[in-house]
Amino acid sequence: MAKIIQKFISKEQKKQRPGYSMAPKYITVHNTANASKGANAEMHARYLLNGAGGRTVGWHFTVDDKEIYQHLPVNESGWHAGDGNGAGNRQSIGIEICENSDGNFEKAVANAQDLIEKLMRDHNIPKSNVVPHKKWTGKNCPHLLLGRWDSFIHGINPEKTVVVETQVSGVSSKKPTAPKAYTGNSIVDYLNSIGVSSTYGNRAKLAAQYGISGYAGTAAQNTQLLNAMRNGKPAPKPAAKKGDQKTSSIVDYLKSIGESSSFANRKKLATKYGIKNYSGTAAQNTQLLKKMRG
Ligand SMILES: [Zn+2]
Repeated sequence: MAKIIQKFISKEQKKQRPGYSMAPKYITVHNTANASKGANAEMHARYLLNGAGGRTVGWHFTVDDKEIYQHLPVNESGWHAGDGNGAGNRQSIGIEICENSDGNFEKAVANAQDLIEKLMRDHNIPKSNVVPHKKWTGKNCPHLLLGRWDSFIHGINPEKTVVVETQVSGVSSKKPTAPKAYTGNSIVDYLNSIGVSSTYGNRAKLAAQYGISGYAGTAAQNTQLLNAMRNGKPAPKPAAKKGDQKTSSIVDYLKSIGESSSFANRKKLATKYGIKNYSGTAAQNTQLLKKMRG
């Protein structure tokens, strides 16, 4: 989901941050009703931090197509629902979804749905308590979503997100509900995809479990760990490639160790072995051959 950037309104700004403690029971959804270019989450954050033009108004999150700003802690109430000291203001987390014309509104809606899923999980809020601003006062808000409110709500599923827990000790027992079949080469992404902590500490622990000694987080060790975890057993040590020790031809040598002898690959290898400006000269080929044999 989009990153949450916390920039809390100062406690001195009583009109925007009344400071009443709150145990959130509802989530109230708004639209900013500001289609101006640049009226994104960051702009709304600045508006609140700068005193909201003296207005008595404050809410918890503003979401645009790229990021989420948090203006109030979720255990404090704001002024956004228009119902005075009713449940809208005093028991609900207020979320403004941006509609700036230079943003992607559908992406902002999707980010808001992700945020709502997280808040529902964090505060045990049922879907029936995710409500439009209209519920509290009849105001036509969120004006771009009221006409499709059911499908907006339908798109929220607090179960769907893969559980990415930060767990320091051992492998998480929580199985992700919808694991993505990650096929890339990053151990961190792989661990995240299966809901296991990817911290260095946890990787070191896993490495030990999979028989990789002296784990220091090198690229080679990470690849070994990734393979071991995918195969469910320690990866075999790569066979030492001795290759043809007699030939004086780099091309023959590369063939003997099963590597491409194309110019492009030789150039790549030359760079890797610290030979600059490889152009395939006899001298460079001899140099590369020497370096590769060790
Ligand atoms: Zn509203």
